[in-house]
Amino acid sequence: MLNLILFGAPGAGKGTQAAKMIEMYKLVHLSTGDILRAEIAAGTELGLKAQKIMATGDLVPDEVVIAMIENKIDNNKEANGFIFDGFPRTTQQAKALDEMLAKKNEQITKMLAIEVDADELRTRLLKRAEIENRPDDKDINVINNRIKVYSEKTAILAEYYQKQGKFQPINGIGDIDEIFDRINKALEI
Ligand code: AMP
Repeated sequence: MLNLILFGAPGAGKGTQAAKMIEMYKLVHLSTGDILRAEIAAGTELGLKAQKIMATGDLVPDEVVIAMIENKIDNNKEANGFIFDGFPRTTQQAKALDEMLAKKNEQITKMLAIEVDADELRTRLLKRAEIENRPDDKDINVINNRIKVYSEKTAILAEYYQKQGKFQPINGIGDIDEIFDRINKALEI
């Protein structure tokens, strides 16, 4: 299996690149943000709780997203592999993911870290707010909190995968196809 983590701050372009990678590598895309937004749209109890947290830019509790991912992996037994997008975001999530995959005799192949500086992230998120109508993109305070949460809780995961020899930085500045080419080159073995 090819199991990839798409890593990067909010607005780095993970979702955009994931869409292209699914086509190319025939992988199942698992985005915890998308799953949570679907729960909100369906008006579930989980969605209602998550909505309040997401509106501030904080993280939804680890056990909630871990259970969501485990469920999706179990429901996709025939998959060639997965693209994890927006997950893991904490060390606890990364450890849980390693354990989940190990139980299936699988592991993470690589973490692709899309690197974009903070000023460019803010510009991209405010632009995306106009296009996708995401409430958490519209407010500069929420954007700044998401970038802060990323640097405090999530950025450290680069080291976690570096220690496993799986960390692969990708320059995230440039046009979409150019960045996709860099990803493809990084995946050539
Ligand atoms: P995203 O679409 O990945 O930017 O996620 C949007 C929001 O959903 C985040 O700001 C968090 O509130 C929540 N979220 C998404 N993925 C996770 C995760 N792996 N752990 C905790 N919260 C998450």
